[in-house]
Amino acid sequence: MKKDYLLAPGPTPVPPYALNEMAKPMIHHRSPMYRQLFEEIREGLKAIFKTTNDVLVLTCSGTGGMEAAVSNFFARGDKVLVVRAGKFGERWAELGRVYGLEVINIDVEWGRSVNPDLIAQALRKGPDIRGVFIQASETSTGARHDAEAIGRLVKDYPQTLLIVDAITALGVFDLATDDWGLDIVVTGSQKALMLPPGLAFVSVSPKAWRAAERSDLPKFYFDLKKEKKSQIKNENAFTPAVSLLIGLQAVLRQLKEDGLEAVFARHDLLARATRAAMLALGLELYTQDLPSNAVTAVKVPEGIDGQALTKQLREKYGITIAGGQDRAKGKIFRLAHLGYADVFDVIIAVSAVEMCLHDLGYKLEFGRGVKAAQEVLSLG
Ligand SMILES: *Cc1c(COP(=O)(O)O)cnc(C)c1O
Repeated sequence: MKKDYLLAPGPTPVPPYALNEMAKPMIHHRSPMYRQLFEEIREGLKAIFKTTNDVLVLTCSGTGGMEAAVSNFFARGDKVLVVRAGKFGERWAELGRVYGLEVINIDVEWGRSVNPDLIAQALRKGPDIRGVFIQASETSTGARHDAEAIGRLVKDYPQTLLIVDAITALGVFDLATDDWGLDIVVTGSQKALMLPPGLAFVSVSPKAWRAAERSDLPKFYFDLKKEKKSQIKNENAFTPAVSLLIGLQAVLRQLKEDGLEAVFARHDLLARATRAAMLALGLELYTQDLPSNAVTAVKVPEGIDGQALTKQLREKYGITIAGGQDRAKGKIFRLAHLGYADVFDVIIAVSAVEMCLHDLGYKLEFGRGVKAAQEVLSLG
């Protein structure tokens, strides 16, 4: 027998109470019972997003929400700024290109966070820039970008929207949509929201709705104006993923009961313990400036095969973590600690990394990483 552990940054483990809810009999999506469910979900989402704006629910993975953020608020040929600091920043740039936008990239070395001054300079040079696209948490490198500081900059430009991919940020660390002036914020179900993949969530500011009026890009399934019209009546334009929404209701209730601040504090604790453990093993973190509390990205030590590490962890020990993507392939590994994650998930991850690195010939003293993690995690 081999027990499986899912410690990758999405999909993340689903708590048993949500699994139970999702196993309940189907309900019809145009019924009073459903409308009640959806109304509660809409309110719960606003609390997580810290917004009074509507948060639209889409049936798709996170990328569908990103696509909707591009296709609904821009017109062909619009100039937009994209922070490309990893795989998901590249996705913004690709989406912009596919929809015929004029994309100006701010390329940031992988593992680093963007310096907001670069965005300030670009906006001063190009006041006709219609959108600034960032990741709040660039999952591919473990870096966080300073969405608050960038929000302050973009606020001064009445024609410019700030679009934030918060797919591994919302529900992990503080992200104040309204207070920070984040016009469009996107997240998905399978990261900190602890659900199976299949839902995306998009909050839209009044400034963004005004920009939507001039959008001439093609859209049908992801027509957010059409969705808004339905969703404010607790209906959906198309058949929603009803079972996932039933699970979401349970998760939102749990998050409310825990309190957002406590949720953020838990993620902070797990992230600090994981970082301390990796450093204690003599490893180097990949993330240079602002580490995201969703995932810890670690450099594979010299002489060790990074792809063998993730493969062996999965096949020999039943532990799924993430390796590096594209240019970071084989060079880093990533330990996730978001969503339904707690103290002993960190201990499992760290002890497994120790055992596997030892198998592959890395010199270490067993328990050093675990001890460092315990010292952070100990409830005293
Ligand atoms: C997971 C993730 C996405 C969305 O990916 P999907 O596979 O479409 O759900 C987008 N951005 C970031 C930062 C992510 O972590």
